[in-house]
Amino acid sequence: MQELIYFDNAATTKVSKSVLDAMLPYLEQFYFNPSSIYSAANFSKEAIEKARGQVAKAIGAQSSEIYFTSCASESNNWAFDIAKKRKAQVHFITTEIEHVSVLRTAKYQEKEHKVTYLGVNDDGRISLGDLEKNITKNTSLVSIMYANNETGVIQPIDEIAEICAKKGVLFHTDAVQAVGKLPIDVKKQKVGMLSLSGHKFHAPKGIGVLYVNKEIQFNSFLFGGSQESGKRAGTENVANIVAIGCAIEEAMVCMQKENEKIQSLRELLFDGIMQIPQVKFNGCRNHSLPNILNFSFEGVEGEGILLHLDLNGICCSSGSACTSGSLDPSHVLMAMGLSHATAQGSVRISLSKYNTQQEVHQFLDVCGPIIEKLRAISPIWQRS
Ligand SMILES: *Cc1c(COP(=O)(O)O)cnc(C)c1O
Repeated sequence: MQELIYFDNAATTKVSKSVLDAMLPYLEQFYFNPSSIYSAANFSKEAIEKARGQVAKAIGAQSSEIYFTSCASESNNWAFDIAKKRKAQVHFITTEIEHVSVLRTAKYQEKEHKVTYLGVNDDGRISLGDLEKNITKNTSLVSIMYANNETGVIQPIDEIAEICAKKGVLFHTDAVQAVGKLPIDVKKQKVGMLSLSGHKFHAPKGIGVLYVNKEIQFNSFLFGGSQESGKRAGTENVANIVAIGCAIEEAMVCMQKENEKIQSLRELLFDGIMQIPQVKFNGCRNHSLPNILNFSFEGVEGEGILLHLDLNGICCSSGSACTSGSLDPSHVLMAMGLSHATAQGSVRISLSKYNTQQEVHQFLDVCGPIIEKLRAISPIWQRS
């Protein structure tokens, strides 16, 4: 395989060497079932509790408020389940720009419950007045993502949480893209529930977390054994749990330094891409993750750009990996008011600590010519 330029870190990330080293002993040596009684199994049990502490510390929670899941999609499903069982009459509030694991969970609730989807402004952010206006006495959950996976736009989480606290409504945030990039303190920020996923910050795929504030009463999500305080049965994925603990700690320690590096690559990309004629930046310069950029190129389709980038060994996405494969334009960009055609001409670039300046230059060298070539054969491109 040729040396790839991997600019798709919002889809998933490479497992870091230190994380791999930390988890491997739990596959090879300490493979015991943590619930077993012999002393060797204690190693596994202790490793889980250490990781729970690492995750808790990273987001300002207590260990007892951290529940390991199989992925953030599960965490998001679980958050809705918890909210649903708290009231007889249930009303959910979420946004039009959520990840599909929230959107489709919300959609499913519509069979029995009322769901309100808040729109966003053209910078991708919700309006706080809009949120406040839509909260009723039946509202049992407000679920709003911390930062968007397609645009990197950050929502006003503190203000949203404040409104929810004032109205006595449970607040959940899908913080998958924010963890490791932004400082998070669930207590200070008044977040009731929070989802995160290991594979977005250099742990393996297949491990997630749901934080649930200890004041919230809730029942089991998976029935069976007494793992995860009896709330989620199933033998623990010990190696992955060790990995997520190690990865989140590493992310916290290095956050500032890595953000500065990634941000400088992002600026270089931004300036370079804006040189291309008829390009639109999709996002919000003042409220954005350091690692995600999204652009629309008039007159061309995102898919075509991605194919040509791929021929040059560059991995990018249009929209999110979970929704790709469908021909519909991004629901996030449509919610930001883009036309169908402009939304379809979008490309997302998402960086990690492993990217280099040289990769950015290689990208910029091929990007302009690809757009030019595609426009030359595009039936919808009119030279202005
Ligand atoms: C990737 C992602 C998810 C899903 O996480 P999984 O662990 O793959 O289920 C949810 N929300 C956002 C914002 C994401 O980027």
